[in-house]
Amino acid sequence: NIHLVWFRHDLRMTDNRALTAACEDESAIVIGLFVHTPIQSKLHHQSPGGGYFMAQHVKALWSALDAKGIPLITIDSTDFGASVDEVINLINKLSVTSIYFNKQYEINEQLRDKQLIKRLNERLNRINVNTYDDSVLIKPGRVLTLNGEMFRVYTPFRNAFLKELTDQDIHVDTAPKERRLDHPFALNQYQVNSLNVIEAMIDYYKTITPQSVIDAMPKIGEDEAIKRLRGFCENHLTEYGSKRDFPAYDGTSQLSAYLVYGILSPRQCVRRMMLNCPNVFEDKDSGAFCWLNELIWREFYRHLIVMFPFLVKHKPMIAWTDNVKWNNDAKQLEAWKNGQTGYPIVDAAMRQLNQTGWMHNRLRMIVASFLVKDLLIDWRLGEQYFMSKLIDGDFAANNGGWQWAASTGCDAAPYFRIFNPTTQSERFDENGEFIRRFVPELSELSNKAIHAPYEHGFSRSPHYPRPIVVHKEARKQTLAAYELAKNNS
Ligand code: FAD
Repeated sequence: NIHLVWFRHDLRMTDNRALTAACEDESAIVIGLFVHTPIQSKLHHQSPGGGYFMAQHVKALWSALDAKGIPLITIDSTDFGASVDEVINLINKLSVTSIYFNKQYEINEQLRDKQLIKRLNERLNRINVNTYDDSVLIKPGRVLTLNGEMFRVYTPFRNAFLKELTDQDIHVDTAPKERRLDHPFALNQYQVNSLNVIEAMIDYYKTITPQSVIDAMPKIGEDEAIKRLRGFCENHLTEYGSKRDFPAYDGTSQLSAYLVYGILSPRQCVRRMMLNCPNVFEDKDSGAFCWLNELIWREFYRHLIVMFPFLVKHKPMIAWTDNVKWNNDAKQLEAWKNGQTGYPIVDAAMRQLNQTGWMHNRLRMIVASFLVKDLLIDWRLGEQYFMSKLIDGDFAANNGGWQWAASTGCDAAPYFRIFNPTTQSERFDENGEFIRRFVPELSELSNKAIHAPYEHGFSRSPHYPRPIVVHKEARKQTLAAYELAKNNS
């Protein structure tokens, strides 16, 4: 038997449902596969940093699999359509008997897999197709209301989710054992080329990724991801609830990129958390529960895109919000992207994104709210910009976050709750420590003046812009635009 494991955003050995299943039969030859589809990645606005992070993990996976006697074939393709042809071709050449892969939930990914399965079913030599819901704790569609529908609000979803979660859902599989079997001869030609493909992929992304993003990138490797998870659970979990909202402080796990590319599984996160805080499920006031809550937000957004596929087609959850007449001022959009809005907290956050490829969650909420509710710019433009810069860019979480901030999605609070960027700044970066780090032009200002320099007579530097909008007025304009859209629906 020849088992082919198609790796996607699940670039790890430990607790990989598809890999574990493929290795169950000890007499089967197991071959890994990774297909690079750069044109598709461009269409999905994958950031260069995300690509570089991914490519290096493909190499790490190649080595880890190789050490266990499992070859990893890497193919350079263009887009998903072409990748299906390549995979069928490979299956024919190697006489594969079973294919294993972990599901992806975005629409093009689902279409690719449907197409593959259809083509495989049309063949004379049928092969077994085995798919897994590996990137989530609970398969989308299992957590439903009493009427059998998907929740549209988070808290009841979370409560139902916790009731539904079983021990099996958080069982962590160990990495496969070493296997030394003769490989089919036809494999040689692919094997020779695989490392070249990986090196070329790494070089390509490296040349397009800013050096500052490379310098700030989380360390490469499954062991590094596990080390970070352990360190976070041992040292920061208990204080997570009280520290997670302050961007100047390293209070969150920064595991997001590892989770997006599947260097870690959510099950590993929950298990490790339970080791450090065994009462996490009972103690709802604990820092650990607060962190678990974030992992369930991740699940919520993944379930949403499966249960409401229109979300993947750039549609809002609340239909009438599609009638909002956006301002979409190109200059203001550029100022936002470049961290030149005149609102220090917004600018510091956007510069953190541009320079490091990551942004703190509180700041993601602030800058998203600012783009949509202060500049009245379509949330989809912000969503796309985030994807093109974030190393942890993930369709479901990003779309969910943007729709939350724009009040077009699953936020329990109504559209008229609008963040005040200056108040947010005073509350979550009280001494301006974070602002000083990313907006050096303002580093000499007092703790009070730094949140709104021009309101405190700031005149020293010609380089820092005046606020591009007045929040109070912008707020009124936005409320009117939303009200009009609602009344016209
Ligand atoms: P921690 O606070 O340590 O949380 C642990 C993990 O839980 C994270 O790594 C992440 O996987 C998950 N998580 C935490 N918060 C959320 C959330 N609100 N929604 C979904 N999952 C969450 N997260 C992404 O992974 N990719 C994105 O593209 C993304 N875009 C966002 C856009 C906006 C506008 C907003 C408001 C949020 C976005 N998030 C996104 C969610 C969140 O900001 C990041 O997951 C978090 O900042 C990552 O840092 P961390 O690993 O230290 O998180």
